[in-house]
Amino acid sequence: MKAVFLGPPGAGKGTVAAQAKDYFKVPHISTGDLFRYNIKNETELGKQVKSILASGGLVPDSVTIAMVKERIAEPDCKDGFILDGFPRTIPQAEALEEMTELDHVLNLVISNEEVVQRLSGRRMCPSTGRIYHVLFNPPKVEGKDDETGEDLIQRDDDKEEAIKHRLEVYNAQTEPLIDFYRKKNLIRDVKTSNNMKPDEVFACVVKALS
Ligand code: AMP
Repeated sequence: MKAVFLGPPGAGKGTVAAQAKDYFKVPHISTGDLFRYNIKNETELGKQVKSILASGGLVPDSVTIAMVKERIAEPDCKDGFILDGFPRTIPQAEALEEMTELDHVLNLVISNEEVVQRLSGRRMCPSTGRIYHVLFNPPKVEGKDDETGEDLIQRDDDKEEAIKHRLEVYNAQTEPLIDFYRKKNLIRDVKTSNNMKPDEVFACVVKALS
């Protein structure tokens, strides 16, 4: 299965994709995670994109496209993949079309107010990338990862100013992708809200992609 997961920041793409990768047995490729990995390891790419991520802006298409092209050429992507956070612009979607053919584009639908509520409470384990929420998915011990016991962090781009900026960027650059893919009959809409449990959302996702 070759799928793209779309939706505003905080819609739950990462959480759903982490479940879907086990269910559909394909790798989960998150461009955000790939960039954060490079920043953490202080690679050349990491140094190049660090301030862009902190501000909530987009990394230039050429850099992002080259990174994804290299990743999906790896052997584990032979039978499919889930792309989470890519494409985010029309030029990225056009570049992806040249690389491969997609089966589904999942569109997670959520209101702006709920996005802000979700992102501002989001916490992450810096080494495993595991995601929590202070209200909706709290760790067993406040501020600590359930497995490693490490201190959880708040991503710089989950702070209020950056959230506002990320939503503006999403509305301007990424939302047009919904039309782009709808015209190709690839969009599978799934409504989500803060009242739904992760398993309920995932059941809807499985139905939409089956
Ligand atoms: P995410 O974890 O998907 O929210 O991504 C975090 C940040 O990584 C974004 O705010 C962008 O700065 C950068 N990023 C991730 N994916 C892309 C992409 N497809 N194009 C450009 N920038 C990206």
